[in-house]
Amino acid sequence: MSKFWSPFVRDLEPYVPGEQPKMSRLVKLNTNEHPLGPSPRVIEAIRDAADERLRLYPDPDASELKDAIAAYYRLKPSQVFLGNGSDEVLAHLFLGLFKQDRPILFPDITYSFYKVYCGLYGIDYQTVPLNDDLAIDLADYQRPNGGLIFPNPNAPTGQPLSLDAIARVAEANPDSVVVVDEAYVDFGADTAIALVDRYANLLVVQTLSKSRALAGIRVGFAIGHEGLIEGLERVKNSFNSYPLDRLAIAAGRAAFEDEAWFQQGRKLVIDERESLSAVLNGLGFQVLPSAANFLFARHPDHSGADLALALRERGIIVRHFGKPERIQDYLRITIGRPEQNRELVQALGDILS
Ligand SMILES: *Cc1c(COP(=O)(O)O)cnc(C)c1O
Repeated sequence: MSKFWSPFVRDLEPYVPGEQPKMSRLVKLNTNEHPLGPSPRVIEAIRDAADERLRLYPDPDASELKDAIAAYYRLKPSQVFLGNGSDEVLAHLFLGLFKQDRPILFPDITYSFYKVYCGLYGIDYQTVPLNDDLAIDLADYQRPNGGLIFPNPNAPTGQPLSLDAIARVAEANPDSVVVVDEAYVDFGADTAIALVDRYANLLVVQTLSKSRALAGIRVGFAIGHEGLIEGLERVKNSFNSYPLDRLAIAAGRAAFEDEAWFQQGRKLVIDERESLSAVLNGLGFQVLPSAANFLFARHPDHSGADLALALRERGIIVRHFGKPERIQDYLRITIGRPEQNRELVQALGDILS
């Protein structure tokens, strides 16, 4: 706290990201990063772009990357919006598409950045409780609203929604924007990109941080009707006219050009997730069904805080959310490389015995 802070800054409640420890020997299963490095083609593209051209500003539209994403999903480039990570895309859409006279709606247990942006921009919101299975039930979102946002699969619970349910909620809310945050969609849910041509109010947000292993580069994007994208561009160009740097543009483009690497990575994560889930069940954990690159699990005989601490003492970090109470005994465990997952299982076996 400093006397120089404006009242606005004093009242902010910033997001607290998962720890990025300096010690590299830890088994790091706390922030849902990809277990493998990015495609070698991405590294090569960054090397190729790292030359004297760095003195020049990047393309303000990052067309090269927009075109690659549009081609990948068979859309028009004018249906793609780019940002420095999807967090920045979210920032712009909260301001550009959500700042309405009615509260926006999102789940009570979900990505905690949504609340932070509401605070930053002074957006009114209401949270909608997850059902008894800790799943989102979109039927609960039928009330007047200034917009809807939810992840699919949800974070940190990992459970997916059907495209049918998403289509129904878009249909039922023709006057507000429905945002599907698909940070984890590639690990087992269906993307709502298939629906954007049908619903002018549907916006899909994705990131290269998770399924394309580029959390360190910061590329995210939104896909939707041209009207929504144009609104986002207006916000972006009122904030920063050169959002993506040259290296990010090159890396992002290359990431969409190595389908084989992408599919292999997905398969590894999905296979490891399914076997880890079975092993955790065997150890007595209750594991929510996951379509993401993490598991959300609790043990009936141990508190989440104790388990997280005991794992940490053994050099393994997972994410534990102290609140709300409904999830305080759960751990969110990122799927790691096979040997990391084995270490986790061994440590848990140790702790439980
Ligand atoms: C990781 C994550 C994001 C943000 O990812 P970026 O690294 O900013 O692209 C957005 N939404 C959810 C639900 C996430 O888990």
